Amino acid sequence: MMEDKDLALIANCAMCANMCKYSCTVYLATGSETLTPQKKARLILYQEKQFLEDDRGFFDTMFQCAMCGACHANCIYENFDLRAFIQEERGEACRKDLLPEEAKKRLQITRQYGNPDGERELIQKGSGEIGYFVSCSTFRDKAVLSASEDILRRSRLDIQEFGGADICCGAPFYFAGDNEELAKVAKRIGQEVRKRNLKKIITNCPTCVQMMTKIYDRIGVHLDAEFIHMTEFLCQLLTEGKIQIRKKNGLVTYHDPCTLARDIGIIESPRDIIKAMGFEIREPVYSGKDTHCCGRTPGQIASNTVRGRVSEMRIGELKETAAEAYISACPTCKKTFSEMNFSMKDITEIVAESISDE
Ligand code: SF4
Ligand code: SF4
Repeated sequence: MMEDKDLALIANCAMCANMCKYSCTVYLATGSETLTPQKKARLILYQEKQFLEDDRGFFDTMFQCAMCGACHANCIYENFDLRAFIQEERGEACRKDLLPEEAKKRLQITRQYGNPDGERELIQKGSGEIGYFVSCSTFRDKAVLSASEDILRRSRLDIQEFGGADICCGAPFYFAGDNEELAKVAKRIGQEVRKRNLKKIITNCPTCVQMMTKIYDRIGVHLDAEFIHMTEFLCQLLTEGKIQIRKKNGLVTYHDPCTLARDIGIIESPRDIIKAMGFEIREPVYSGKDTHCCGRTPGQIASNTVRGRVSEMRIGELKETAAEAYISACPTCKKTFSEMNFSMKDITEIVAESISDE
């Protein structure tokens, strides 16, 4: 049962004018009123009051959300985040064994292999107090992995590389509502960080950064290290002159990954890097904090049809810039778009191609 103060918050959202729906990726892509933030809040309220008869239908709707945070960013109430309530309901779906099939499948694979791709390979290279955590999304994309390794090697810093298909940040457990497994993974990551004596950890995946900082904090696991996204580290390397790049030219568009721009607040660093390389940037209509999700991450939209429509919508928005190249800073965004024949490069690939050792 929800506490009275939470019931009041969700009731406010359920009674709201729902104007944030015009920023909701899933609503814009599907046109479904049921999937708007306010209607999800209304369903949560009805579920709490036991007005609903179809548990499975209710929980399925809780999984038709990209968890992209656009409703939070555009909410009329200052600290209200509908995602916290959706997340609670996902936990309930998991406890009652009523997860949608897609979410259940992903959860089973992650439980079995420790990552959502069902792969196994331990990465352990180098030493030093700076860590490079290879997310499962980076491990999957060997071009991003080798570009990142190349940049780190040429920075001449001592860096320990770990992760790969051995440990994941726990996002697949978190978004499927499996809080027990999430707590175990968070503790394990905490042990790995202490065992390796790491002070700073870099990763390509925005969701890993979000999980290992804000979400772990919420469940009481505090990593004794600074955890930063690759774009912040690349900016530091360029500012400190640890890497030099040959200037290029051309017109490019940068796609802001929703977690990186809205939840972590990294909007300028990728643009600074792209401009430092000599490129001109043409922004899509929805960029920065107003970006739209690629469809895949981080919220595990359960329906392939909904996910596909979200990706198609974002590709359409990006294509409108008619840029010569499209760049992002999240391996999952790149993979999602590439699978739909829309070519995109990760920022590490562009940087690695331009590094000069002179
Ligand atoms: S998320 Fe905020 S703005 Fe959107 S419907 Fe709920 S209360 Fe209103
Ligand atoms: S998190 Fe994103 S997809 Fe989910 S309700 Fe909010 S705006 Fe819509």
